Amino acid sequence: MKRNDGFESKELPAEVQGTLPDVYVDDLLVTIKYFVDEEHAHLWIEDHEVCARCRHKPCLYFCPVNVYTLGHDGKIQVAYQACVECGSCRVGCPYSNIGWTLPRGGYGVAYKFG
Ligand code: SF4
Ligand code: SF4
Repeated sequence: MKRNDGFESKELPAEVQGTLPDVYVDDLLVTIKYFVDEEHAHLWIEDHEVCARCRHKPCLYFCPVNVYTLGHDGKIQVAYQACVECGSCRVGCPYSNIGWTLPRGGYGVAYKFG
């Protein structure tokens, strides 16, 4: 299926459909506790000029919590406060243009299990 952003999404093979569990990201997110470091961003764009030349801007799609958005000025905005530290942006940016560190000690997300 052709999407209007140029990417193609593929249907799962019939033998796989129905075998995967239903996962609702919003239900998982409410189990996370955030300790936001308002003084120190642990994610940043290295060079906005590189983003300007990045045709498909996959960061707008791969982050499960939409940390990356396109601002009115055409620049990628980084809402690092919402990050759940999945690590996808460390490998998802085709130009390695996202600076990434773990939050400082005492900050970040805490996952509850059970
Ligand atoms: S994928 Fe990387 S280079 Fe492309 S717009 Fe996003 S941060 Fe910039
Ligand atoms: S680590 Fe995961 S949740 Fe955090 S910004 Fe990157 S893709 Fe989004």
